[in-house]
Amino acid sequence: MLLAFALLISVFTGCKAQTEQASEEQSSKKIRVGLSLPTQREERWVKDKETMEKVAKEKGIELIVKVADANMNEQITQVESLLSQDIDVLILAPHDASAAASLVEKAKKEGVAVIAYDRLITNTDKLDLYLTFDSIRVGEMQGEYLTKLVPEGNYIILAGAPTDHCATLYKKGAMNVIQPLIDKGKIKVIAEQAVENWLPENALKIVEAALAANNNEVDAILAPNDGTAGAAIQALSAQGLAGKVPITGQDAEKAAAKRILEGTQSMTIFNDTRELGKAAVEAAIKLAKGEKPVVNGETDNGTISVPSILVDAKVVDKNNLQEVLVDSGYISADDLK
Ligand code: BGC
Repeated sequence: MLLAFALLISVFTGCKAQTEQASEEQSSKKIRVGLSLPTQREERWVKDKETMEKVAKEKGIELIVKVADANMNEQITQVESLLSQDIDVLILAPHDASAAASLVEKAKKEGVAVIAYDRLITNTDKLDLYLTFDSIRVGEMQGEYLTKLVPEGNYIILAGAPTDHCATLYKKGAMNVIQPLIDKGKIKVIAEQAVENWLPENALKIVEAALAANNNEVDAILAPNDGTAGAAIQALSAQGLAGKVPITGQDAEKAAAKRILEGTQSMTIFNDTRELGKAAVEAAIKLAKGEKPVVNGETDNGTISVPSILVDAKVVDKNNLQEVLVDSGYISADDLK
């Protein structure tokens, strides 16, 4: 009896020692996260990348970064390469919302948790988490700002890339505000088009054509981001109209901040990529440890409700630019010279 008891104790302590060793091995194995970004063309994506690299370093995890040049085939190859490198979690900002679904399926088959970053991934029930700014609200803020300045007149309405789910939501939000004024006959839409791949050169062509077709009679331009706003302002400038036609933006790029101070762009939306990037790395660490990140919302991706972390975005114009962008260290005063 005594012998059996002693045996049991030794089996128990042996087991415990083994478990402790296993968990130490686990904790000493560095968490490895793959990050796939769609582009570095817009300044914001450069900042997203810098933030995530910085936070990963501070937290002592390994972050392997790949950037696709607004090309889905390139992104697919890059994500496949990340999946072959024994990552625990994949943070994916897709170039194409629905084409990225197959990457989520592949990752999950290999036991890799997936976070959609900034842009939603549709057509999949396997997504673990979505981190973004409230895209409909962003569009509404753009619409509210513009219609307050120009409650009636001729509008050019640009939307972002049709492959980017955020672009659909930005437009939806803006139209929540603009459509009632169109219905009342106050606003006339003289051009309405999506900008393929978010490319400024495409936005430039659309605005040039709209100005030419309407005798330069334009009163306001809804531009979904700073890149497209810059192109629209170039088209206005060629007609001597820069600064005379209110125009929106988004991303708080340095060039846009300068245009706001000069008076050629009316506003931008500040999405603090420092906040989103930090939250993404922290959430990835939780998922890698098998824990649940704390969320504050959910987003319908057409298949499921994806648990979401939604970060607030802010309107910036000449009145609060110094405080929101410069004093917070997002843009340096030197950059605005
Ligand atoms: C982002 C915008 C960005 C655009 C073009 C969108 O998904 O939300 O901030 O300007 O992509 O890269």
